[in-house]
This record gives sequence, C-alpha cells and structure tokens, in this order.
Amino acid sequence: MRILVTGGAGFLGSHLCERLLNEGHEVICLDNLFTGRKQNIVHLLENPYFEFVRHDVIDPFKFEVDQIYNLACPASPPHYQYNAIKTIKTSVMGAINCLGLAKRLGARVFQASTSEVYGDPIEHPQRETYWGNVNTIGVRSCYDEGKRCAETLFYDYHRQNGVDIRIVRIFNTYGPRMLANDGRVVSNFIVQALRGEDLTVFGEGLQTRSFCYYSDLIEGFVRLMNQDEVKGPINIGNPGEFTMLELAEQVLKLTGSKSKIIHKPLPSDDPKQRKPDITLAKKHLNWEPTISLSDGLQKTIEYFKGQI
Ligand code: NAD
Ligand code: UDP
Repeated sequence: MRILVTGGAGFLGSHLCERLLNEGHEVICLDNLFTGRKQNIVHLLENPYFEFVRHDVIDPFKFEVDQIYNLACPASPPHYQYNAIKTIKTSVMGAINCLGLAKRLGARVFQASTSEVYGDPIEHPQRETYWGNVNTIGVRSCYDEGKRCAETLFYDYHRQNGVDIRIVRIFNTYGPRMLANDGRVVSNFIVQALRGEDLTVFGEGLQTRSFCYYSDLIEGFVRLMNQDEVKGPINIGNPGEFTMLELAEQVLKLTGSKSKIIHKPLPSDDPKQRKPDITLAKKHLNWEPTISLSDGLQKTIEYFKGQI
C-alpha cells in the first residue's frame, strides 16, 4: 500500500514510518518539523519507497494513498502550550484535511487521539465509554479539546460520508527519539539524571501515569488499522500505574545517578490519575503491552546516553 503519515518526523511518527516501510509499504511522511526532526528520519531518506514532504496539516494537501495515519500535533505540554491557537488549529483543521482526503480517495484514516480526552478522570481506570472531565478554558484545553473535536469530526465524516475511520486513544508513551528538551516527564527525568541535575517532580509527585514503550504502541496502531471488527476509539497503553515519585526513583536507580529529587509547582489542570482499561484492545486486537517500565526505561536511558 501507499501510506501517508502526518507527523511522521516526530517521535512516534518516525517509528511508525519505519515499521510500515519494513512491512513493504510505500510511505509519505508529511511534517512541518515543529517538534519533529529530520534526524528521526534521515536513515529513511535513501529508501526509494520513502518520501518526506515538509508541509503544515492546516493547509490542504493531496496525495494518492490507500491509508492515512494522522499523528501531526505537538504532544508535550510545553510544546502544545507554546502556541495554543496553532495547536487547536492543527488538531481540528488537520483532521478535516485528512478526512476530506480520505473521503475523496476512499482511503482508511487513523486518528492519534489521547488519554487527555478523559481530562482529570473521575472514572479509574479509564474505559472508552467514559466521557471525561475536561476543562474547556484551561491551559491544557487547546490540546484536549482539539483532540476531542477531532474525534467528533472522525465520527461525523463516518456517519455522514461513510469515511472508513480508526481512532486510538494513546496513553503516555516514551522511548528513543523523544527530544531531550521535550518537557515530558520520562525524558525530563532521564536527561536530568544523566546530567547530574535535580529531578523536577511537579507537586507532591503523587499523581499517577501509565507508561507504554513505543514499540508496544506501534504494534497496537498497526493492528487497529488493519482489522475490520472495530473503529475505536480504543485505548492503547500500559496499565501499570506509577506515581511520579516512583518514576523518579526508578530512573535514579537505573541510571545510578546521584541527582536529588526536588519539587516544583504543579501545573494547572494536571490530571491526578491515569490508567487505561485495555479490555477492548485485548479482545478485538489481541493486543497487550510486552515491555515492562524498567526494561523500557533501560532502553530509553541507553538512547539518551548517546544523545547528550
Ligand atoms: P511529537 O511532537 O514527537 O510528534 C508530533 C509531530 O507532528 C512532530 O513531528 C511535529 O513536527 C508534527 N507536527 C506538529 N504540528 C504540525 C502541523 N501543523 N503540521 C504538520 N506536522 C505537524 O509527539 P509524539 O509523541 O510522536 O505524538 C504523535 C501523536 O500522538 C500526536 O498526535 C500526539 O497528540 C499523539 N499522542 C502521543 C502521546 C505520547 O505519549 N507520545 C500520547 C497521546 C497522544
Ligand atoms: N512532570 C513532573 N516533572 C517534569 C515533567 C512532568 O513531575 O519534569 C509530571 C507532570 O506534572 C504530570 C506527569 O509528570 O503529572 C506527566 O507529565 P507529562 O508532561 O509527561 O504528560 P501528561 O501530563 O500530558 O500526561
């Protein structure tokens, strides 16, 4: 197949492009390089079945493709809050442009949604049927509401125009090719530990997250995209749940770092808990994560040792 990956030069997008090329597909990677890097895809540029297009998803685009994965959107809170209006435009107009193209081509289109659609969840763990607890006017809203609106657009294009959709709700995912200055917690803690700097735990550090290693996630993407049983939204994430203090302690142990843990103010609207219920992914995709947090952290630490 010929497959379009928007956001293909980013952390997850570049791993997805690589996986699709390895499966023998042709890949068009569209990215404006806001948080993505040519370095993530430089090893693919020689491949005659790979094409990089520098373009913004908010501007229309046309390609002849069989499938579209829509990943374009900054994912780290400091990056998506840097230009909040641009972030919401990216999610909403990017979705409209992908859906319009899929409608014209009869192509299957996949949306990278997020556990952020659950906001600061009251239901725990989160099932796909939970509608969420999201602030419409906070600093995270540009991302959360943009992604929620994209899900709405996907279902409206499906109901109104018969577009063939798939939606995944991604829970915190980490691994090689995250940016050292990404701002997300796993890369922050690892980079701080390796540099001998203090690990910055926000708030008391008792808030929880569930961390999935990138290769498990990409496997879930491909399984969801290539089956006909469910459209989603479907949670893909690792149900292991950790406080940020536990994460900091694991990173210190695995790096052997003498860094100290310090506390910084908790950002506003920071969700207190997050853990996916993956019953649907197990049932319909026969998917569950295979990489433990300590194994995934170890591999990510090795990557960052080579970067900094
Ligand atoms: P990332 O920031 O590394 O990747 C996003 C990519 O999109 C970058 O390459 C960036 O340059 C590109 N991009 C941003 N705005 C664009 C625009 N207007 N036009 C074209 N390209 C644009 O982040 P990631 O972790 O790889 O996330 C990929 C997708 O997965 C995002 O949609 C994100 O919301 C979603 N997601 C990720 C996680 C996670 O934990 N990694 C969790 C939930 C959802
Ligand atoms: N966090 C932290 N220190 C950091 C960066 C993040 O304690 O240096 C916390 C943050 O407040 C949140 C959790 O780690 O509770 C996950 O943050 P991240 O930005 O990785 O993702 P998200 O909040 O979008 O899940």
